[in-house]
Amino acid sequence: MSLKEIGEFGFIDKISRGCLIRPEGVVTAIGDDAAAFHGKAEQLLLVTTDLLVERVHFLRQATSGFNLGYKALAVNFSDIAAMGGNAREAFVSIGIPDDCPLEFLEDLYRGMQHLASEFTVNILGGDTTGSKQDLIINVVVTGMADPSELLLRSGAQVGDIICSTGCLGDSRAGLHLILNTIGIDSPELRALFDAHVLPKPCLQEGRLLAASGCVHAAIDVSDGLSSDLGHIMQASGVGARLVAKQMPISPHLQVFCSRFGFDPIEFALAGGEDYTLLCSVERKQFGRITEEYRKAFDRPLYPIGEITDTGRMELVETDSRLRDITPAGWDHFKRK
Ligand SMILES: [Mg+2]
Repeated sequence: MSLKEIGEFGFIDKISRGCLIRPEGVVTAIGDDAAAFHGKAEQLLLVTTDLLVERVHFLRQATSGFNLGYKALAVNFSDIAAMGGNAREAFVSIGIPDDCPLEFLEDLYRGMQHLASEFTVNILGGDTTGSKQDLIINVVVTGMADPSELLLRSGAQVGDIICSTGCLGDSRAGLHLILNTIGIDSPELRALFDAHVLPKPCLQEGRLLAASGCVHAAIDVSDGLSSDLGHIMQASGVGARLVAKQMPISPHLQVFCSRFGFDPIEFALAGGEDYTLLCSVERKQFGRITEEYRKAFDRPLYPIGEITDTGRMELVETDSRLRDITPAGWDHFKRK
């Protein structure tokens, strides 16, 4: 069946089932002129949005609807996580070209609903319209944060330990497999592929970091470690020194890099779309927070360097030499 056959309202009716996951506090969801829902007194309202355009951010032929929907929501959850918040409501608008089958769109909503229910987030509305050629998806996600626990990019202090909540570079390796149509012939390559298409937003991790009271700055790794750390440096007016030996490189990425001849450190530095959280932790509290983190998630919070007063980004190489690094990663306007 095509979208034309069931029409916009038939489509909305189809996809709106399963969108209300947490009904408490929701006055109206999909189906009225606007959504109405209660916020929480004394909490800050967080709002983030992300626009995905076919051929710029994804290739429709190279993805399933499910994976695309999942990721469209995941990247927004990741931004709420980076602020130390809880994700609450989502709004999804899509521009649909004529040749996009209804099954693909239903699969896309299944992907979104899958992640939304995992984190008890409602999909409360949006808009649908036609598009001449490309599929366009815009997601807005709201969140809540305690004003005293809000994580910003701007609070990093000299001496802080820079940490990552997970491994870096896997997603870039997964993208390499997709772009070069390399067959997934091992569990390692499968893990890298999954890291790229089904990234897990670090919402619980972000909450723990925010509640600890000793995280001075945070950002999610969307453009790449060096690029995103550059944002913290700029916002905080500090420098940073990363240590290559401490870089969290997954065994999967090691296997990939030896097989295809890449340097895992470069993948970790400039990869992008890891959606781990990068944070700057007060040095004296580092022991306490890593212990809390390990207890809660049964894996380490990886220390990867420290905040300095140099204003530069440096890397201590594996042979202990110091080299300056220029923030590299995804810049939508520079890389045409
Ligand atoms: Mg972000």
